[in-house]
Amino acid sequence: MRVAVIGGGPGGYVAAIKAAMMGANVTLIEKRRVGGTCLNVGCIPTKALLASSGMLMGIKEAKDFGIKIDGEITADFAGMMGRKDKIVNQLVKGIEFLFDKKGVKLVNGFGKLIDKNKIEVSKEDGTKEIIEADKVILATGSVPIVPPIFPYDGKKVITSDEALYLDKLPKSMLIVGGGVIGCEFGQFFRTLGTEITIVEMADQVLPFEDADVAKQLQRAFKKDKMKMITGNGIQSCEVKDDGVIAHLNNGKSLEAEIMLVSVGRKPYLENLGIEELGIQTERGKIVVNEKMETNVEGIYAIGDIVDTPFLAHVASKEGMVAVENALGKDRKVSYKAVPRCVYTEPEVAAVGLTEKQAKAMDIKYHVGQFDFRGLGKAQAIGHFQGFIKVLADVDDKIIGASIVGPHATDLLTELTLAVHLGLTVQEVGDVIHPHPTLSEGLMEALHDVHNECVHSVGSEKECAKA
Ligand SMILES: Cc1cc2nc3c(=O)[nH]c(=O)nc-3n(C[C@H](O)[C@H](O)[C@H](O)COP(=O)(O)OP(=O)(O)OC[C@H]3O[C@@H](n4cnc5c(N)ncnc54)[C@H](O)[C@@H]3O)c2cc1C
Repeated sequence: MRVAVIGGGPGGYVAAIKAAMMGANVTLIEKRRVGGTCLNVGCIPTKALLASSGMLMGIKEAKDFGIKIDGEITADFAGMMGRKDKIVNQLVKGIEFLFDKKGVKLVNGFGKLIDKNKIEVSKEDGTKEIIEADKVILATGSVPIVPPIFPYDGKKVITSDEALYLDKLPKSMLIVGGGVIGCEFGQFFRTLGTEITIVEMADQVLPFEDADVAKQLQRAFKKDKMKMITGNGIQSCEVKDDGVIAHLNNGKSLEAEIMLVSVGRKPYLENLGIEELGIQTERGKIVVNEKMETNVEGIYAIGDIVDTPFLAHVASKEGMVAVENALGKDRKVSYKAVPRCVYTEPEVAAVGLTEKQAKAMDIKYHVGQFDFRGLGKAQAIGHFQGFIKVLADVDDKIIGASIVGPHATDLLTELTLAVHLGLTVQEVGDVIHPHPTLSEGLMEALHDVHNECVHSVGSEKECAKA
C-alpha cells in the first residue's frame, strides 16, 4: 500500500513513521523542515527558552536554599536563543534519522493534490515531481491569526514565529491575547527584564481554564510585575519609528517597543487542491469523521486543520488513528481526556471539564481540592504555591481536573488516565502514592472530594458519597 503524507509536523511525521512500521510504502512531503510548527516554532523552542528563564529564576532563589552566589547574574539572551536553536536542530535530525531507519521517503517541496491519488510537489529549484499514492493523509497544520487591525510587519508587530527569532531583548512588549502562547512568552521575556503588558478580551488570562487557576497564575504574574489588562480589547494601533501604540476599547492607549499578536491560529490549507477535489470544509477547517476520513474516499485529515484541539499530542494521536484506518483497521480517537498544559511558573495543567463547563452542561459535580502548601515535598523543594482541583460526577467518576503549581504538567497524567478510563475518586484515591512526592497532592485532593482529606482541615462543602 502506498501512503503519502502532506506536512511533517507532529501529526504528519508520526503518521508517516507509523505507516512505515505497519509495512506501507510511505512518502512524506514537507515544504520546510520536518517537525512542523511544534518542533520548529512552537512547543519545543518555547519550552527550551522557558527552561532558560526558569534556570535564571532558580539561581535568583538560590540564597533561600542556603547557597551564596557572589557576583552579578546576567541573562545572555543570544546564548538562550542559541541553546534553543541547537535543541531544535538536534530534534529535527532525530526525525530525519528515524525516517531513514524506518523507511519513510522524505520529499522536500510544496504538495498539492491534483487528484485523489496524485500529489504534485513543487520544489525549491523550480522542478516538479508527481507522487502517486493509494491513501493520502493531509497534515498541513496552522499559522498565526493576525486580524487586519494589527499592522503586522514581522518587526515591530510580530507573531510567535518572529518572537522566537528576535536578535535583541526588547525593552517593552505589548502582548495581545492572554492565552497559552501569550502567557508563556510574557513570562519568558519578563524574567529577562522586558516590561510586559498582556491585553486580554476575556476577564481572565487562560480564558478556557478554571477561574481559580487563572487567578493563581495572575497573582504570580503580578508579583513579577507583569501588567495584565483583562476584559478589554484593542480598537486600533499604529507603528511608529520607535515602537507601537495601541488604543484600547476603554479609551486608554499603550505604547511598547514590540507588539506580539497571539490571538489564536488558523488551519493552513492554501493551494492544497482541496476545493478542486470537493473535500468538505466548515469554517476553514476540513470536516472528518471519527476515523479521520474526509468525505473523499482514501483521503484523511489530521491535526490543526481539523476541528479538534490545536495541540501536538492530539495531532499525533489523530495521525496514528488515520494510518491504522487507512491500512485496514477500525480505530477512533477519543477526545474525552485531552491534556492541556501551560509551561509557565507556576505551571498549569488540566484535563476534562472545568467547573464553568460542568455548570454550562448542567452536570452535577463534587469538588476536591488540595493546596501544594500542605505537602512535605512541596515545602522541601520550595515551590508550594498552587493547588489541585478534582471534579467528580454524582456517580463518583472523575470528570475533570485542574492543577496550578510545581510540575503540574507532569502530575496531570495520572488524572488524564483516570478521566480516559472513567475511573472513580474511590478507585484512584485508594492507590498508595509514594511519600514524599507532589503526587500525594492528587491523592489528597481526591480524598477531599469525600471530605476525607487527612492533611487539611476540611471544608463546609456538601459531602460526596464514597
Ligand atoms: C508558540 C507555540 C507554542 C506551542 N506549544 C505547544 C505545546 O507546548 N504543546 C502542544 O501540544 N502544542 C503546542 N503548540 C501547538 C502545536 O505546535 C500544534 O498544535 C501542532 O504543531 C500541530 O501539528 P500539525 O502536525 O497538525 O501541524 P504543524 O506542526 O503546523 O505542521 C504542518 C507542517 O506542514 C507543512 N506544510 C503545510 N502545507 C504544506 C504543503 N502544501 N506541502 C508541504 N508541506 C506543507 C508545514 O511546513 C509544517 O511543517 C504550540 C504552538 C505554538 C505556535
